[in-house]
Amino acid sequence: MKKQLLALLLSFQLAVPLTGCGGALPKEEMVQKGQSSEDDNGNNVEEIRVQDDYYEYINQYILSNIQLNATDAHWDWFSELDAAINEEMEELIRDLSEDDTVYERGSSEQKIKDLYECVSNTQNRVEVGLGPLKPYLDGIRNAKDIGEYVDALARFSGDLGFSSIVGGYSVMQDKEDSSQYAVYLLYADPLIGKEYVEGENTQEYVEMYMDYVKDMLCTYGMEEAQAEQSADSIEVLLRDICSATLTTEQYYDPSMTYNVYTKEMLQQLYTNVDVDRMLKTLRIDGQDKYIVLDVEQAKKINTLLVEENLEALKDYSTFVLLNDMAQYGDPAYASLHEKMENMLYGITEAWGDEKNWMTLTQDLLPWDFGMIYVEDHFSPEDKEEVEGIIGQILEEYEAIIMRQDWMSQETKKKAIRKLETMVVKIGYPDQWPEAKDMMQVIPVSEGGSLMSNFVNSLEVSVEYERDKLGQEVDRSEWEDVPQTVNAYYDPANNEIVFPAAILQAPFYDRENSDGANLGGIGYIIAHEVSHAFDSTGALYDEYGNYQVWWSDEEMEAYQELSQSIVDYYNNYEVMGNKVNGEMTLMENIADLGAITCITSIIGDDQKGLDEAFSQMAYNWASVDTASFMVYLMNVDTHSPNKVRVNAVLSSCDAFHEIYGVKEGDGMYVAPEDRVGIWR
Ligand SMILES: [Zn+2]
Repeated sequence: MKKQLLALLLSFQLAVPLTGCGGALPKEEMVQKGQSSEDDNGNNVEEIRVQDDYYEYINQYILSNIQLNATDAHWDWFSELDAAINEEMEELIRDLSEDDTVYERGSSEQKIKDLYECVSNTQNRVEVGLGPLKPYLDGIRNAKDIGEYVDALARFSGDLGFSSIVGGYSVMQDKEDSSQYAVYLLYADPLIGKEYVEGENTQEYVEMYMDYVKDMLCTYGMEEAQAEQSADSIEVLLRDICSATLTTEQYYDPSMTYNVYTKEMLQQLYTNVDVDRMLKTLRIDGQDKYIVLDVEQAKKINTLLVEENLEALKDYSTFVLLNDMAQYGDPAYASLHEKMENMLYGITEAWGDEKNWMTLTQDLLPWDFGMIYVEDHFSPEDKEEVEGIIGQILEEYEAIIMRQDWMSQETKKKAIRKLETMVVKIGYPDQWPEAKDMMQVIPVSEGGSLMSNFVNSLEVSVEYERDKLGQEVDRSEWEDVPQTVNAYYDPANNEIVFPAAILQAPFYDRENSDGANLGGIGYIIAHEVSHAFDSTGALYDEYGNYQVWWSDEEMEAYQELSQSIVDYYNNYEVMGNKVNGEMTLMENIADLGAITCITSIIGDDQKGLDEAFSQMAYNWASVDTASFMVYLMNVDTHSPNKVRVNAVLSSCDAFHEIYGVKEGDGMYVAPEDRVGIWR
C-alpha cells in the first residue's frame, strides 16, 4: 500500500484508475495457467470445471501456491510489478546513499540522496519534532473561540494544504468549462471513512481506529484520561459528520458534487463563519464561483461550528493533522500510523524501518524517480504496438455505439465524436511537471530535515496549484507518474492514460499471441475507453465539460440498464462480504463494456477467444487477507478481482458459447439476465 499523501491532501481525485491498491510478494514461477491437480507440495487439489468457476480454474495454480507474506495484505499482478519496481528504486537509493559523489544541487540524484539521509536520520527527526508545523498546530490548540479556530484552519490550509473540518480547498478543472480552473471547497476529513463508520460488520475496526486516535493524542502530549475523553468526543463528531456525508459513489456523480456558489451564497451556507475573512486567509478570495463538493455535509459542519463544540473541534483537527503528518515527524507517530494501517488491512508484521524510509523517499520525489524509471523501461516499439491496439479498440467501439437501438442517431453521433477526439497518452509526459523542479531538498548538514523538506513540498504544491487560477488548463499534465502500474480515464480531459509501467507482462507482452494481448492490455484499454460512457463519464461531452448530451428517454433507458447491473452485482459475495452494486457500478459498466469490445474484435475465432478469456482471468488473480477484503469492499469502487472475472464472463455470450456453459453450471446466466450497457 503506497500512500500518496500529497495527492490525498491536495486533490479530490477525479480520474478513474484501473485498480485500487497493491502490496508485495516475492517472485515465483507463476506463469502456469489452468488445470493442475496437484499443488507444489504434491497435495491433490479439487478439480474445478471451466464452466463452474472460471477464475478459480485459470488461477488455481497461483492461488494454491501463493502465501501472503506477513508484511502484506494483498497480492495481485499489479502489486507484484509494483514490488519489482520498488526493489529497483530501492537499489538506486542504496547506491546513492553509499556513494560519496557530490551531485549537482537540484539534480534528481542529489535530491534522492539527501532526502533519504533526512528520512533515515531518526535522531534528527525526533529533535525536529513537528518543526515548522508547530506554530500552525499551536494556532488550533490555542484558539479561544470559533472565529480563531477557523482562522487557524484557514492559515494551515492556505499555506500548506492541510484540511480537516472547514477551509480545505483544491484547484481543479471547472466541470462546466474544462479549459478553466476553479476552486473546489473540500469536505471534512471523515477519518476511517463513512462506509466503515456506518457499516454493519466494520464497527470493530472503528473501535480500533479510535484507540489509534487516543494513542496519537497521547504521543502529542495529552494525559491518558484526557486523550480518552477527546477520542470519545471526536467519535461523536465523526458519526455526526458522516451521517450527512455523500457516499463514495455519490462523490463521482457531478450532479451531486458540482454545486456552484458565490461568496454571498457561501456566507449563507456557513452562517457561523466569517466567509470573507476565511477566503482571504486562504488567498482564494475574488473568485466568481466556488464549488461546494458536499452541500449537506457543509450544512452539518456549519451547525457544529458553535462554541460548545470548540474543544471537540480543536481535538478533531489536531488529530487529523497529526495523522496527515505522521510519517514525516517523530518516528513515534509513524509507528502508530503503521500499526493502525496494519490492523485495518490485516497485516501481521511491520515492514521495518529501511523499507518504510525507502518508500517515503519515493513518495516525496515521485517524478524524479519517474524520470529515472523511463530511461530503462520504455520502448518506442511497444508504444507503437499498443497504439495499434488502441486504434483497433476505438474503431470497434464505434461499431458498438452504432448498434445500440435505444440511442438516437443524434446521440450516437455525439458519442462517436467523443471517441474520435479522445486523447491518448502512453508512457510518460512530454514535459516533466514544473513542480518537480520547484521541490528542492536541503540536506541535514545545511539545516534541512525530513519535516522541513516535507513542508517545503507542501508549500510548493499549494503555490503551484493556486497559481493555476486564471490560467488556461494545461491538458498535457499527467496525474500518474510513469512507474505507476495502472491506467486511467479522465473525464475532464476525455483522455486515456497508460503509464510506462503498465506496458509489461503479464498485461502486455510482445511475444504473446494477439488473442492474449487483447485479453491483457486490450481489455485494460477497452475498460478505460468504456469509462467515457460509464454512469459518470456519460455526463461529460467530448471537451470534458459536464453537460448532459442525452435525451430524457435515453437517460431513462440508461438508468434502467444501470439498475439491472447494480442488482446483478449485488448477488455476488466474496469472503463473506456482499458486493456493493451501487458503489462499483461505474467500474462494472467499464468491465462489461470492455469484454464486449474485445470479443467483438476477435469475432468467432475460438482459439483467440480462449486466449483472451484466460489472459484476462489470469491478470486479475489476487489473494487478500480477510481484513483487506473488508477494506476493499468499503472503499474501492472496483468489484473484487474474482467478481471482476466471473461476473463479467457470466454476462458474456461468447464465453457461454465457446465453453458450452449450460443451465446448472456455476458460470451460467440465462441470456435474458445477462447485463451491460455496451453489448
Ligand atoms: Zn476503471
